[in-house]
Amino acid sequence: MSNSGELKTDVMRETLPLLPLRGLIIFPYMVSPFEVARDKSISALEEAMLYDRLIILSSQRQAKVYEPYPEPGDIYEVGTMAEIKQLLKLPDGTIRVLVEGRCRVNINCYQQTEPHYRVKFDVIAECSEKNVETEALMRSTLYQFEQYIKLSKKIPPEVMTSVNNLEDPGRMADIITSNLNLKLEEKQEILEAVHPRERLEKLCSFLVKEIDILEMERKIHLRVRKQMEKTQKEYYLREQMKAIQKELGDQDDRTAEVEELRNKLAQLNLPEEVEEKALKEIDRLAKMPPMSAEAVVVRNYIDWILVLPWSKLTEDRLDVTTAEQILNEDHYGLEKVKERILEYLAVCQLTKQLKGPILCLIGPPGVGKTSLAKSVARAINRKFVRFSLGGVRDEAEIRGHRRTYVGAMPGKIIQIMKQAATKNPVILLDEIDKMSADFRGDPASALLEVLDPEQNCAFGDHYLEVTFDLSKVLFITTANTYQGIPRPLLDRMEVINISGYTEEEKLEIAKRHLLPKQTKDHGMTMDELIIPDLVLRQVINGYTRESGVRSLERQLAGVCRKAAREIVQTSKKPIRVTKTTLHKFLGTEKYHYNVAEEQDQIGLATGLAWTEVGGDILTIEVTLVKGKGQLILTGKLGEVMRESAQAAYSYIRSRASELGINEDFTEHYDLHVHVPEGAIPKDGPSAGITIATAIVSALTNRPVRKDVAMTGEITLRGRVLPIGGLKEKVLAAYRGGIKKVIAPRENQKDLEEIPANITRKLDIELVESMDDVWRQALAPISEGASTLN
Ligand code: ADP
Repeated sequence: MSNSGELKTDVMRETLPLLPLRGLIIFPYMVSPFEVARDKSISALEEAMLYDRLIILSSQRQAKVYEPYPEPGDIYEVGTMAEIKQLLKLPDGTIRVLVEGRCRVNINCYQQTEPHYRVKFDVIAECSEKNVETEALMRSTLYQFEQYIKLSKKIPPEVMTSVNNLEDPGRMADIITSNLNLKLEEKQEILEAVHPRERLEKLCSFLVKEIDILEMERKIHLRVRKQMEKTQKEYYLREQMKAIQKELGDQDDRTAEVEELRNKLAQLNLPEEVEEKALKEIDRLAKMPPMSAEAVVVRNYIDWILVLPWSKLTEDRLDVTTAEQILNEDHYGLEKVKERILEYLAVCQLTKQLKGPILCLIGPPGVGKTSLAKSVARAINRKFVRFSLGGVRDEAEIRGHRRTYVGAMPGKIIQIMKQAATKNPVILLDEIDKMSADFRGDPASALLEVLDPEQNCAFGDHYLEVTFDLSKVLFITTANTYQGIPRPLLDRMEVINISGYTEEEKLEIAKRHLLPKQTKDHGMTMDELIIPDLVLRQVINGYTRESGVRSLERQLAGVCRKAAREIVQTSKKPIRVTKTTLHKFLGTEKYHYNVAEEQDQIGLATGLAWTEVGGDILTIEVTLVKGKGQLILTGKLGEVMRESAQAAYSYIRSRASELGINEDFTEHYDLHVHVPEGAIPKDGPSAGITIATAIVSALTNRPVRKDVAMTGEITLRGRVLPIGGLKEKVLAAYRGGIKKVIAPRENQKDLEEIPANITRKLDIELVESMDDVWRQALAPISEGASTLN
């Protein structure tokens, strides 16, 4: 390092040779090598070496200029006076110099330009004044420089240590600047800044900018590296997969598969929206590795689209005469139902299209609802499919799950359409009363969309994502009772009631339909198995208990099986089933119907009950026991039945004196009402008048007539209200040997449903009040019977 004493001698000299630097600035105190090739520069160096090795170094504004012209300012005015430390001539004629900067100089004028520049100059005095401001600036510069070093990684960390120890602000600025990778103009700016504060300020702002740039560079670098890594990895894996697929011969299969799908799609004539969607999915599939889970999902989806009957129709046969013939062929009786169906088809024949209300067949099991719907399909020449809604509790079962679900599938409706394979089948929605709603959504609302003619031309399935047209489908629904059918659905349907069959009807159905079908199914003819009517009746009454004929059909199948075995083993034909041999075919009788009592009895009345499998006789017993006027109810009675017993009891108590009952009976007696077959739950209001009759009988000692059965709801004022299931109840009464049936007057309309041969033999009394009931049902007080009063 030079000291200030030497400097003084340097300053004594007024002119010095100048070497224009290209793209480089030498700061005071900086030791730096560079190479010199231009003749003028070499000449300047030589002159310097002759004297005191001092030389002025100043930068050219433009590094490219070979011969800078001093006057218009090709060379900056502010430069550095430097001492040449070393010179090394290289074999190619160029010179490597090592210089050390001494101080800033201001070039005043050019004294000579040949053979090299010589300039007059002033030394710019350094100011090393330090105050708080410069101190703060120094710290901040140091901090920035530290950041810079961390980011740039090009500067050895020792530089930081040496800079840290510097006290002089100007010198610190110079040393840091010489270490930075700044533009020439920026470095020159700092060289020209005389005051250290100004120098530090400039440096600081450059540092901030540089740090920003470095920061950004680092980010870009990171991003690029990540991207590179990812693409390289993907590329590598894809290549590997290709190699594997090639080895396995998969790739060819995949292209062939995709091609085949495209061909199929082209032939299908799908709606535009659907075709677009399918094409998109096929394109996606083509890009996927064949064995990936995603590819399987997409493939499945495409298969669904391809297999659905988007535009396939069968031609309708809208001919009422043929339809009538077919319905009669398949079913006995059911006149009203058949009539209604034929009317419906007649309207369709006139309007030339099958549209209109949805038919809903309501009736007990086995009365032929399903087979009627099948016959309708056969009559109009359409495909028939059936879908049971029993137990459906989730909207997704109807509408499907979105494809994002694992194992997602279309809903039942779309599955059914696939099964039907035509766009216009007859779909039987079975048991719509057994559907239930829970937290997963209400299936009824989805079903509404299916059944509503306004909406079902664009039915949305979650899985398919495209809409399907259901408007050409003929929907028929079935249910066992009204109660379970969601109200909005019921509103959209035309209800046709099918009540249970009478014994006569069952007999005819068995003879005409069930038996021929069963013998045929078992490989026999009607001549080979003879079952007389009497025996058939016995099968109906002793082996089945139902409103329909399903179990009867099963029993007949049982008879046929046994008969077939006998024919095969003994070769004896024909087989004749008689009343006495029937048990060999079907075992002992399973059922007996309740029948009328043998005698008139006090406190025992006969009611009529409705069950899902038809009507039955129900006895009600009442007895007085010592107590305090309590009403005891037993026999597994439901809440409604208990309440109607209460109502009957209160009504009787309110009229006790008129009925000739001692009003004090409640002081001494409890009333026990029991309904036998206590294990079977019973409910409903229709036993009201029967309970009342039994109570009055018990309290007045008047016996109830044994051949009278009754049904009706009682009010607190003694009116008799209508009940349901009258037909089944009357049939049960007839079967049970009852002579007279007491029923509410308001049920008169239901009498039409009851076959004439039964109404002819039964005395049906329609009543309005309890007095009417008692008049018909109670016998006079019997001889010797003790009364309460
Ligand atoms: P549901 O759907 O009402 O439960 P099905 O339609 O399954 O009853 O009927 C059960 C069986 O009884 C079927 O084999 C059907 O052919 C037969 N069947 C019911 N009613 C009749 C009838 N009126 N005439 C002929 N066969 C009948």
